[in-house]
Amino acid sequence: DDAGVPGRVRVAVRLRPRNAEELVADADFADCVELQPELKRLKLRKNNWDSDTYEFDEVLTEFASQKRVYEVVAKPVVESVLDGYNGTVMAYGQTGTGKTYTLGRLGEEDTSARGIMVRSMEDILADLSPETDSVSVSYLQLYMETIQDLLDPANGNISIVEDPKTGDVSVPGATLVEIRNQKSFMELLRIGEAHRIAANTKLNTESSRSHAILMVQVKRSVMGREAAFSGENDNHSHLDKPFKPYVRKGKLVVVDLAGSERVHKSGSEGHMLEEAKSINLSLSALGKCINALAENSAHVPVRDSKLTRLLKDSFGGTARTSLVVTIGPSPRHRGETASTILFGQRAM
Ligand code: ADP
Ligand code: MG
Repeated sequence: DDAGVPGRVRVAVRLRPRNAEELVADADFADCVELQPELKRLKLRKNNWDSDTYEFDEVLTEFASQKRVYEVVAKPVVESVLDGYNGTVMAYGQTGTGKTYTLGRLGEEDTSARGIMVRSMEDILADLSPETDSVSVSYLQLYMETIQDLLDPANGNISIVEDPKTGDVSVPGATLVEIRNQKSFMELLRIGEAHRIAANTKLNTESSRSHAILMVQVKRSVMGREAAFSGENDNHSHLDKPFKPYVRKGKLVVVDLAGSERVHKSGSEGHMLEEAKSINLSLSALGKCINALAENSAHVPVRDSKLTRLLKDSFGGTARTSLVVTIGPSPRHRGETASTILFGQRAM
């Protein structure tokens, strides 16, 4: 199993169950996909007698539990972050297919419903020594190439800073909160979500048109020879460094991407058109970077959008990247489902 092999994107597909409306309105129609989880295959129906078959690293049916989804999609990334690497977990798909359900569910009443963000923090907190280690988070929204602070709405336009020596990316203007327990983390996610809704109401747009980005920074005190930067961990250039205690950093970025549905250009004008262009820009820039990683290309074009600039030190190199593409079963959404599947395929 190559779970979490650096430099390669692991891609899972997750199908959500039919919702109440689809159960009734599409009762006479078959789902647009058929899943074969043991074979890690998905069949996309072309018509009544023919379908295309696609393979993924993992195929998660409508019966896959949140726990299983976490274990398959995020756990290997979280473990490598605890070992001092960077990593990214992203959800891509049409609005309404389960990106937020997969990543952001709090599961306050029913702990089995908890999503990837909450489960990741639980594993991180369980592994850290409170005396010597720490975990801090920032929570951002990226909308129309502007980064907003979901923990402090007064923080309007946050800039991305890249350390020229280490290549580390940071957002020094963003609120950074140290997390000591799961309760305060959930509270922070709630605050962020409330600010996201408020900000989008003010801008008169839908949350689905922006990316939500949770950045989790882990710092641990360890004994050893410090690598000059995480990218050096793979060779032996750190062997001439002294053996002593140092702070080892890892960063996990969880990205709930904007809805991937094509905003039909004929139907949108003015602000809507600008918004659609900006979403298409960041998602296609992301797609290009992911393709470059898949093809082992030396050049990953991270400069093309803020989204990919933010992720620059969290994918490629020694970082682990995991992508879950979410799809709905309805035959009405076959076109969007097909384009989501292709995005996932190109990442592999
Ligand atoms: P997105 O964030 O992609 O727009 P949501 O996560 O908000 O989509 O999901 C849309 C709706 O579908 C929500 O009501 C959610 O509870 C439901 N849903 C999504 N995925 C699942 C799933 N795997 N099982 C049950 N319900 C789901
Ligand atoms: Mg959502």
